[in-house]
Amino acid sequence: MRGLCLCRTCQKISGGAGNLFIGLEADGFRYSRGEPRRFTHPEAADAPTREFCGDCGVHIAARSPRAPGGLIVKVGALDDPAVFEGPSLVVWTEDKHDFHMVPEGARAFPRVPGRP
Ligand SMILES: [Zn+2]
Repeated sequence: MRGLCLCRTCQKISGGAGNLFIGLEADGFRYSRGEPRRFTHPEAADAPTREFCGDCGVHIAARSPRAPGGLIVKVGALDDPAVFEGPSLVVWTEDKHDFHMVPEGARAFPRVPGRP
């Protein structure tokens, strides 16, 4: 899955633009060098665990208890972001601002499909 999340948390993490990500099966992913630092918001129910580079702070990936077995990888952390080819899915458009763009042809949802 190739996505763009425009939720307020992703806007804060990205500097305002939203978050480009690839969704995949966690079993098919491994770190080739080292282990990330991890953060889970202690006061948010079903908060995702975010994985960061412990040296430079770059956000690499996230795992959510709402999507067991899945993994979200941040496009900006890829060695070659060109493999992404743009989002086919845009979520949390209810938090979208006028300066955000939804690519033509991408499926867009006010929140995450299948979740209230
Ligand atoms: Zn988000």
